[in-house]
Amino acid sequence: MSGPRHLLEAWEEVRRRILRASNLAIFTDFDGTLVPIVRSPEQARLSPPVRLLLSRLTRKGVMVGVASGRKLADVRGRVGLRGIWYVGSHGYSLYRPGSRPRILLAPAQKARMAEVRRILRQKLGGLARIRVEPKEATVAVHYRNASRRTAAAAAAAIRQVLGIHPRLRLLPGKKVWDLLPDQRTSKWTAIKGILQEERRTGSRLLFYLGDDSTDEHVFQRMRGISVAVGKRRRTAARFFLRSPGEVRLFLERLCEVAK
Ligand SMILES: [Mg+2]
Repeated sequence: MSGPRHLLEAWEEVRRRILRASNLAIFTDFDGTLVPIVRSPEQARLSPPVRLLLSRLTRKGVMVGVASGRKLADVRGRVGLRGIWYVGSHGYSLYRPGSRPRILLAPAQKARMAEVRRILRQKLGGLARIRVEPKEATVAVHYRNASRRTAAAAAAAIRQVLGIHPRLRLLPGKKVWDLLPDQRTSKWTAIKGILQEERRTGSRLLFYLGDDSTDEHVFQRMRGISVAVGKRRRTAARFFLRSPGEVRLFLERLCEVAK
């Protein structure tokens, strides 16, 4: 298979597909896709023009969703739009416009994760610049700004936890390890569930944009326009954009074409 093509250079073809579709859905990752990666994840903020574009798309009848590894409340707060879908914690939490947030976790998984959080806090509590962040259903260990030696010690502790709980899934991200309750749930299982819940008549064209290894699950399984964002790398996506700045240009074009 040939490598991904630049989405804006292939725009004529994409535009024709948009015009042929009866309805559109766009799901996008947050960090590194809608906003640039910043040194501290707490500083990531959606720019007002991009927020406006997402909101204009929903008003045009496009189904819009943001899918993140962040906690649901965290990503909702940063995006700040009510009328769109949110997937949080890598697919374990879900917000449907106008309804209550949902956590997609079985009781046994919940108990397992509580224990994992306790062990990790115990083992990593004393390590400098290692931050354990409990999320709704998962737990993240951040090692941004930690020394190499400290990060290695944290990695060893995580391997121990995985030895005790082999069903857990380790998801390495950018300067973060996420421990997930099972091997099955992902951003894609959440998005697939939403698309089934929101069946519409006619043909739907799905866009998905993401910059990280966790987004590759979606690229591999989805049909539609998959877009890898950021530096060129091996990807299952059919298209690429170089930066969140180019993502904004794409959203502007999509706004123009969407009926
Ligand atoms: Mg990302």
